[in-house]
Amino acid sequence: MDMSEQAELFRLLLVGGGHAHLFVLEAIIQGRLPSDGVALVSPSRWQYYSGMLPGLVAGHYRAEQCRIDLEALCEQAGIVMIIDSSCGLEADRKSLQLASGRTLGFEQLSLDIGSQTDLSWIRKPGNHLISVKPMDRFLADWQAFSDTARRRREGRMVVVGGGAAGVELAMAARTSLRKSGFSLPVTLIASNGVVADFPPAVRKRVERELERLDVRAYHGKAQAEGGRVKLDDGTELQADLIIATSGAKAPRWLAGSDLELDHAGFVRVDQYHRSCSHPDIYAVGDISARPGTPLMKSGVHSVRVGPILAHNLLAARNGDPLKVFRPRRNVLYLISCGDRRAVASWGPLYASGGWVWHWKDRIDRAFIDRFSG
Ligand SMILES: Cc1cc2nc3c(=O)[nH]c(=O)nc-3n(C[C@H](O)[C@H](O)[C@H](O)COP(=O)(O)OP(=O)(O)OC[C@H]3O[C@@H](n4cnc5c(N)ncnc54)[C@H](O)[C@@H]3O)c2cc1C
Repeated sequence: MDMSEQAELFRLLLVGGGHAHLFVLEAIIQGRLPSDGVALVSPSRWQYYSGMLPGLVAGHYRAEQCRIDLEALCEQAGIVMIIDSSCGLEADRKSLQLASGRTLGFEQLSLDIGSQTDLSWIRKPGNHLISVKPMDRFLADWQAFSDTARRRREGRMVVVGGGAAGVELAMAARTSLRKSGFSLPVTLIASNGVVADFPPAVRKRVERELERLDVRAYHGKAQAEGGRVKLDDGTELQADLIIATSGAKAPRWLAGSDLELDHAGFVRVDQYHRSCSHPDIYAVGDISARPGTPLMKSGVHSVRVGPILAHNLLAARNGDPLKVFRPRRNVLYLISCGDRRAVASWGPLYASGGWVWHWKDRIDRAFIDRFSG
């Protein structure tokens, strides 16, 4: 594509309304970053906050309490919001392609597009499968399933993915239907064991919470076809709904972008979160990969890099020194466990109970309030 054919040229393109970009929007609103020539591209006006998604499924929150209005934030910031998805990037030519067919040129670009769910273990998804991402579609699919399950008083659920998101959603789904007076079975499939990336004491507490709610956990690799889920030990499960929270993968379109990627297709960045190959392009959150600094795909890192990204985008333009993002060694994780209980994990420390849920609830609501104008 010839740059002269491009209809629009932006000084700064923010692609994705992820956690870190919220801090960039905040910096623009507060006048710390100029608004001229800036646009945000995201497929939806609403950015659901993943930390509250299980609480929404469990029935503790309404949808309006768990989402951020990106359009309102852009309006406040005085920047353009483009409701669309990027589907191609020519980094050498500084050209971004959108699903609608539009092509945008840019001087600086920042990617905060999260990751996609790895569905390589499913042969024929049919209408049994719902993926946790994108979250607005997940919520609509979940609502349709739970309405039908309530009406028919039946519905077997299998959650595939034993990370924090999988265990939280399995317990939330079970709690939601129990609240309506049904005891519908929920099974969790965790290929490496439940919350395998967490310390043993946290794993034990989470396992106890799953038992308390009668969520049966299987260890093993799943293969699915329609509503049939097969484990590598031969176990077969029949599901009316399969919820996939099975690992993070990078979008395929990045493969043809000229950007330097890691083996899994995530964007390699330096300590300032600039692309290792294209210094005018930044990547933060799940989509970024720091060579030599493996990071868990987690909202916590994406939140913490946000203010540093805001600083670096301006500093790079002005020729000022950039700030290094140093991920914390110990990160606080609060894993919700269905009915207003949660397990906390911070380095070697852990705790669980109702008070941990209320603590998480306060933190999550404060995050939404911060970006709600
Ligand atoms: C149920 C659940 C619970 C979780 N709980 C926690 C938790 O308690 N703590 C924690 O640290 N982590 C948690 N996580 C993980 C966390 O959600 C992710 O690590 C985090 O959201 C990544 O943030 P991000 O900024 O990279 O992108 P995201 O927050 O995923 O945002 C990506 C944005 O990019 C947009 N987008 C996607 N594709 C495109 C495209 N092609 N073009 C334009 N825009 C695009 C999306 O619409 C979205 O606005 C949880 C995940 C799930 C699923």
